[in-house]
Amino acid sequence: MNTLFLPSRRKFLCNVSLGTAAVATGLGLAEYARSQPTPGNPPKKLGIALLGLGRYATGELGPALKQTNLCRLTGVVSGHPEKAAHWAAEFNLPQKNLYNYDNFDSIANNPDIDIVYVVTPPALHPEYVIRAAKAGKHVISEKPMATSVADCQAMIDACKKAGVKFSIGYRMHFDPYAKELMRLQRDGDFGTFTKMTGDFSFVMGRHEWRIEKKLGGGGPMMDLGIYIVQGACMATVQTPVAVTAHEEPKQRPDFFKEVEETIDFHLEFPDGAVCDAVTSFNQSGSEFRVEGPKGWIDFQNSAFGYQVGDVVTSRGPLDYPHPYQQALQMDDFADCIINNRQTPVPGEMGLRDMKIVTAVYEAAATGKRVMV
Ligand code: NAD
Repeated sequence: MNTLFLPSRRKFLCNVSLGTAAVATGLGLAEYARSQPTPGNPPKKLGIALLGLGRYATGELGPALKQTNLCRLTGVVSGHPEKAAHWAAEFNLPQKNLYNYDNFDSIANNPDIDIVYVVTPPALHPEYVIRAAKAGKHVISEKPMATSVADCQAMIDACKKAGVKFSIGYRMHFDPYAKELMRLQRDGDFGTFTKMTGDFSFVMGRHEWRIEKKLGGGGPMMDLGIYIVQGACMATVQTPVAVTAHEEPKQRPDFFKEVEETIDFHLEFPDGAVCDAVTSFNQSGSEFRVEGPKGWIDFQNSAFGYQVGDVVTSRGPLDYPHPYQQALQMDDFADCIINNRQTPVPGEMGLRDMKIVTAVYEAAATGKRVMV
């Protein structure tokens, strides 16, 4: 399935209408025409600036940007000049494309940069997304989109007002196994999915922003539970109507001072489907199982990982390639800009998920069933 995906998309892109694409990219027609592929002149890739050069940017997004076909790294935004210099050397970036958080707004005047990808702790996403949008750049925000529903809405509004495209770093949507889950839902091979179970957890060893409420917005529910929410919404193509939740007593109360350590939650979908899940920063797990009346699909390990692990269905095991999810995700966003189409992972999806996560926290705090 996946092997067919890239070539057909590339072919599609080559057929893009010049005028539409020029408008969509914000390039002048002549400039866009010059950028078009001719023999010996490969297509112009859109320029991405990564904002926040931490572990995810360094370990995943930077390497993925060496594999992308439609975009490439052309700039960075960092509070650490030595980090920016290191990236400049590795990616051959000119000094003028290295920004810090103070001078970042002048990115508006830099035609090398089409997209800003915000990869900071979640509470900082709104400020940088809104500033990037005001600078006229298309934006990707990492997950969770923000730490409140109001902030998510403000980010969407700012991008709309600026006329720029906005997506969330929901990489799983581009993974072949998740695409198969979506296909099973669409084609109904196993009937309408009714029951889901999920676990996404890891043992946190040292202090970081993920256990600071101010920066992370919450604990594992914000950071990891959101993947299970994503999976359940993907499998049902619905939004839960109600949730119940229970926070487990803390095993390490001195470490998890501000956020939950482990939380169990239950999502109820409009058609009666349910998802029972657990997420924790003090145990290990990455599993997701979806059942319908005629069959099931079971993501048995590394269900939400950069490389999905064993996936078995009631028909037998699946064996798909493991492409760079992030490369596919960023190329798809570039394609959205070039072809002026909607991203499958828009800000509105991030807002939806923040409403669900917020309801889970409220349900855990009150012990009540909370409507989403
Ligand atoms: P990290 O702590 O390793 O990196 C965060 C970066 O933000 C650092 O470069 C840090 O210097 C910068 N930063 C700027 N202002 C800061 C401030 N006031 N306080 C702290 N850091 C500040 O974190 P990370 O693991 O790279 O996560 C960054 C984002 O990426 C988060 O939103 C996280 O949820 C997301 N993430 C997504 C995935 C995924 O699979 N999609 C995986 C990991 C992380």
